[in-house]
Amino acid sequence: MDHSAMQTEIRRLAREKGAIILAHNYQRPEVQDVADFVGDSLGLSRKAAAATANLTVFCGVHFMAETAAILVPDRPVILPDQEAGCPMADMVDVEGLEELKAEHPGAVVVSYVNTSAAVKAVSDICCTSANAVEIIRSVPVGKEIIFTPDRNLGSWAAQKAGRWVIVWPGFCPTHGLIDIDDVEKARAAYPNAKIVVHPECASDVVALADAVESTSGMIRFCQQDDAKEYIIGTELGMIHRLQKDCPGKTFHPLTQLAVCPNMKLITLEKVFKALQNEGPVITVPEDVRMKALHAVQRMVEVGA
Ligand code: SF4
Repeated sequence: MDHSAMQTEIRRLAREKGAIILAHNYQRPEVQDVADFVGDSLGLSRKAAAATANLTVFCGVHFMAETAAILVPDRPVILPDQEAGCPMADMVDVEGLEELKAEHPGAVVVSYVNTSAAVKAVSDICCTSANAVEIIRSVPVGKEIIFTPDRNLGSWAAQKAGRWVIVWPGFCPTHGLIDIDDVEKARAAYPNAKIVVHPECASDVVALADAVESTSGMIRFCQQDDAKEYIIGTELGMIHRLQKDCPGKTFHPLTQLAVCPNMKLITLEKVFKALQNEGPVITVPEDVRMKALHAVQRMVEVGA
């Protein structure tokens, strides 16, 4: 079956089952195009929380579906491929974080949404790249802050917020594929283009960019900015989203290599099967969910 026929079948089945399909900006173009809503982690969490559908099909990675399950415990959240994880989220564990907390008693733990539900449960506030700066600013001055797991986002957001944070040494392997050689080559190839990068990129890449934005911030920036051409430093799926949302503008990836293999595990066929089977359902043990809920709710309420 071609993409268009499969998309028609998915939409039919979603209507029949009363399902909402959410897709992250890094999903395959054909998966983005079949979704009810395409967005970043913050936007998708808010949509999941507000949705009244019988089922939520989450086209993203595991921690995203878990976050939706924390917010919406009474309706099934389905991840079309359970193997779609996030290596960055796997870089922080409860035991290690508890040890760091013991070394810094009284520190406020700000965890990026790219963490397991168990890590969220031992964190004080969650954030996404869209509201990390506001979340860090919201911590009372004088309190120590531990930021997990992304060292790049943590350092960038702390600098923007004018605060100092203890950063966990995690990173995104996909954004780690973007380096300063790519920036120099792209500037030479497209001298009139502005460079917009995600804060998960390494600090030397961030330092050379014209703008540093979350994926939702990139869309806003490119819509409002008066340039006609942009070089984008984030996962490749974002180019499709920008081309749709910013007609008349041209987008080039900083590198064709920035492809997240986990995001790309979700295919139209798997979305169709997930709807048919109403699974795999992602669940969070109730005691963990209750402990994580406060941190996630604060994330959903703040900013951007
Ligand atoms: S792009 Fe990076 S942070 Fe996002 S899911 Fe993939 S590995 Fe995780």
